[in-house]
Amino acid sequence: MHHATVSTKGAHRWQQGHPWIYRSDVVARPDAPAGAVRVSDQRGKPLGVALWSPKSEISLRLLDRDPDATIDRAWWHGRLTRAVARRAELGSVANAYRLVHGEGDLLPSLVVDCYDRWLVVQLMSAGLERFRAEIVDALQDIMAPEGILARNDVSLRVKEGLGTDVELLAGAVPDEIEVEEHGVRYLAAPWKGQKTGAFLDQRENRALVGRIARGTALDCFSYHGSFALHLARGATAVTALDASAHALTRAEENFRRNGFTNGTFIEANAFEYLKARERERARFDTIVLDPPAFAKTRPALPGATRGYNEINLRAMRLLAPGGLLFTASCSFHMTKPLFLQMLESAAADSGRRIVLREIRGQPLDHPELLTVPETGYIKGALLEALD
Ligand code: SAH
Repeated sequence: MHHATVSTKGAHRWQQGHPWIYRSDVVARPDAPAGAVRVSDQRGKPLGVALWSPKSEISLRLLDRDPDATIDRAWWHGRLTRAVARRAELGSVANAYRLVHGEGDLLPSLVVDCYDRWLVVQLMSAGLERFRAEIVDALQDIMAPEGILARNDVSLRVKEGLGTDVELLAGAVPDEIEVEEHGVRYLAAPWKGQKTGAFLDQRENRALVGRIARGTALDCFSYHGSFALHLARGATAVTALDASAHALTRAEENFRRNGFTNGTFIEANAFEYLKARERERARFDTIVLDPPAFAKTRPALPGATRGYNEINLRAMRLLAPGGLLFTASCSFHMTKPLFLQMLESAAADSGRRIVLREIRGQPLDHPELLTVPETGYIKGALLEALD
């Protein structure tokens, strides 16, 4: 195996529980193509084995703290088995969930999502790409899926010098897969849908919304209607809103699939819709705000915060007395404290007395490692209007 030497600063990152070592902290670069390399510090002390990405700013990603580890089929099989075993309890509530959440499962740059009998993977580093065959083999062995699709159409791969193709890796994968999630069914679109075909990361928050929904309900960034479907179980009437007509067509199909007849589907900009409803002094008993990431980069954060503030302020004003709002942000740059600060400020401006009923985060299958902030991005809160 080839070898890399890292600076004290680089070595310190591993000691602090973060698996990435940047290009500037690699003092002797391996003269080798992407793959696994042994890593030591400048005094020659062995530190472990890492994935090596020659073109990336993130040069090394820790795989194993044992410097003698051999990264072979058995190694991948062992790590993947442990990740799958952590999810055992999810099989009884859903047939779609994440099997591997990258760094959060000590499998840096790898995502594996399970949709019923099929798997969708994302290989997001050059070093990892070198082990594609081993990973596919191990997944076949552990999960025996009917097909494995690579949704490698992610821009991160460009930074690694990799292509961005959607590619069938094994068997066959259908265009649509029926997901069952806490008693609700919807179609995932593994080839063309957002992410790997659905937003699995909000599954438990959707279940929460299903438990508390009542009266007239509004789902503002509905996509294929997955929150709206859970709202439909407890609410008398649900408005599902999205800027994309295509997404709403899917939402309507998903309502029919569940035999729900209490949905109304509105193509609109949520900002304008909320403003118009507020002007009419409309009221909703249950509201969900699950917008796309407004802050995709750090410089975008101030503008994004104003956006979050605006929709949350308006949603609070639209709550009927005793009404409930589930609100979320999936912007990595909007941290938990910033999210709560934004909600406090929106509540103060709303003229309403708002109770923080629950702070929510990521589900079991999207482990957020405390030492790796990048593994956590979803914040959520369940709020209640007292008056
Ligand atoms: N809540 C969904 C995921 C939402 S993804 C789930 O759990 O599955 C974000 C959605 O917001 C996308 O469907 C996108 O079309 C929509 N969207 C983005 N900007 C919008 C806007 N200004 N108004 C309304 N919808 C918007």
